[in-house]
Amino acid sequence: MSVATCSEPVLRLAAEWLADCVGQHTKCAEKFNPLFHPTRLMTIVGKNGTRIVKLLETNSEQVSPPPPYIALSYCWGQGDTVKLLSNTYEPFSSQGIRLDQLPRTMQQAIDLALYLGMQWIWIDALCIT
Ligand SMILES: [Zn+2]
Repeated sequence: MSVATCSEPVLRLAAEWLADCVGQHTKCAEKFNPLFHPTRLMTIVGKNGTRIVKLLETNSEQVSPPPPYIALSYCWGQGDTVKLLSNTYEPFSSQGIRLDQLPRTMQQAIDLALYLGMQWIWIDALCIT
């Protein structure tokens, strides 16, 4: 198997693990609360090439009921990264962010979400201030 995290066999394996967890793990199901969702989520919209992510407050009408999403929390490193600040809240939620403006880690997480059939992602740097 290819060791590249975003390779097709690895993505397929992740999808199988998720399906097993959702479908067969009774202990996981006991802990799962379908009504829980974070305060904000990014919605993934548009087609390849013009795809963007937009910030939404999950208590809004647009995000009801809570959609399935994946979460990305990671070490941002030393450099400047795209993040949610008082001056980026408005552009993040109105225009959204083009994928090529995001670090590779976020782009790969978005690709994974789409591969798993999810249109929503929580990324710490983009969803918390
Ligand atoms: Zn599980």
